[in-house]
Amino acid sequence: MQAKRLVIIGAGPGGNTCATVAASLGAEVTMVERDVIGGAAHLWDCIPSKTLIATGAELAELTRAPVMGLQAQGSLDIEALHRRVQDIKAHLHDQLCTQLTSQGVRLITGTARFKDAHTVVADTDAGLEELEADVVLISTGSRPRVPTFAPVDGERVLTTRDSYPPPEIPDHAIIIGSGVTGVEFTHMFASLGSRVTLLVSRQQVLPIKDAEVAAVLEEAFLERGVDLWKGARANAITRDGDTVRVGCEDGRLAEGSHAVLAVGSIPNTEGLGLEEAGVELDANGYVRVNHNCLSNVGHIYAAGDVSGKLPLSSVAAMQGRKIAEHFMGLHNRPHRHLDYDKAASAVFTEPEIADVGLAEAEAFACGFKIRVTKVPFSANAKALIKGDPRGFVKLISDPARGVVLGGSIVGRNAAELIGIVAVAVANGLRDADVIDALLVHPTLSESLADAAS
Ligand SMILES: Cc1cc2nc3c(=O)[nH]c(=O)nc-3n(C[C@H](O)[C@H](O)[C@H](O)COP(=O)(O)OP(=O)(O)OC[C@H]3O[C@@H](n4cnc5c(N)ncnc54)[C@H](O)[C@@H]3O)c2cc1C
Repeated sequence: MQAKRLVIIGAGPGGNTCATVAASLGAEVTMVERDVIGGAAHLWDCIPSKTLIATGAELAELTRAPVMGLQAQGSLDIEALHRRVQDIKAHLHDQLCTQLTSQGVRLITGTARFKDAHTVVADTDAGLEELEADVVLISTGSRPRVPTFAPVDGERVLTTRDSYPPPEIPDHAIIIGSGVTGVEFTHMFASLGSRVTLLVSRQQVLPIKDAEVAAVLEEAFLERGVDLWKGARANAITRDGDTVRVGCEDGRLAEGSHAVLAVGSIPNTEGLGLEEAGVELDANGYVRVNHNCLSNVGHIYAAGDVSGKLPLSSVAAMQGRKIAEHFMGLHNRPHRHLDYDKAASAVFTEPEIADVGLAEAEAFACGFKIRVTKVPFSANAKALIKGDPRGFVKLISDPARGVVLGGSIVGRNAAELIGIVAVAVANGLRDADVIDALLVHPTLSESLADAAS
């Protein structure tokens, strides 16, 4: 039997995970990418931001040196930081290309569009190439939203994509938007030495997160000297030489050296020939997909940010895996559909924030009976040894059956620790199962067992 021909447009985490899984299951895979294998995730988003944040974290560690009984000083070498970002990106890129090509995935550098529902045309340096497909995956990602009032110039009025590597560390960055990206950039620039003003359009940073969690982050920002402007909705940006001014709807005016927009993203769907293929978009411009990530056209799937689900690399990758399993027929065997409500996510600030599953406020809003237990890290030996007892673990479970429904962690290594809760939530484990796991002492994870008790 002839192998199924899969054509993938876009090589971010959605595209490349689908490619490797489909190839391992026997599909003939061609992937077209106009920029870099690894996608926006490697080029601009996850990897560079977390690399800069890691350097900021090391600098912050030095400020804690006296607590640890040390005398230490450090300063930023921006050139070395640039090289580090490039080296990490190059390493990941090479590794990914080797993996894909060794699995027989054909990689084409070019811009792809549909000619019709079964034909994708790749526009490459060598000319146009038509690719016949039994199955197509659209994984073209998204790009930063730029409001009409923002004169982005790549120098002082920036989107998140203009910030890597930062040409210089801003003297005074005004961050517009206090969702995950906005607070991560606030943390990143503050830890690298910038003065930061964060414009928070509502009354809480991270408006969709647990209020107690957000409060810990706000306190940490204030302690570090970040100016938090609550209820500040930007509606104008002007640049005058080296000065940038951001006006707010209520008349306030923030003045700094740089403005960074972190106000969401828009899907990359234009120029793809979706009309020729008959693919429908939803009201917000995302590809409309069902629970199998299948569009209205029976053999065209969408994964990642362009599918309008949770905009996370991890979710894009899992969608890519499930799509490969679906069109290769594995869904007829035991196969779990992707449950977006059980996706773990993290905010890489200091302290870190991570959560998974049901949130306390959500449970109350839905009228669910829940058991909530909260354990502060100040009661945890490892947190005290590390000199950072900020934050807490909060576990949410079903009081009748003891099943873990969700959790939030704020504190050191929260993004790593949430993995334990994520495994519990995904597998319907009970509080007792978490307690029975013989965890290492002294570790931060012991607070999870304490919260489950
Ligand atoms: C600043 C920032 C930090 C982030 N940090 C994290 C994080 O720490 N963890 C996390 O899980 N998520 C993070 N995210 C979100 C994450 O980056 C995205 O959810 C993820 O990249 C989406 O993956 P994707 O598969 O949709 O493809 P993307 O990574 O968006 O890549 C899509 C690719 O498609 C290509 N493409 C588009 N159109 C065409 C075409 N016509 N022809 C050929 N190629 C095309 C593009 O060039 C691009 O390479 C972050 C986002 C931002 C903005």
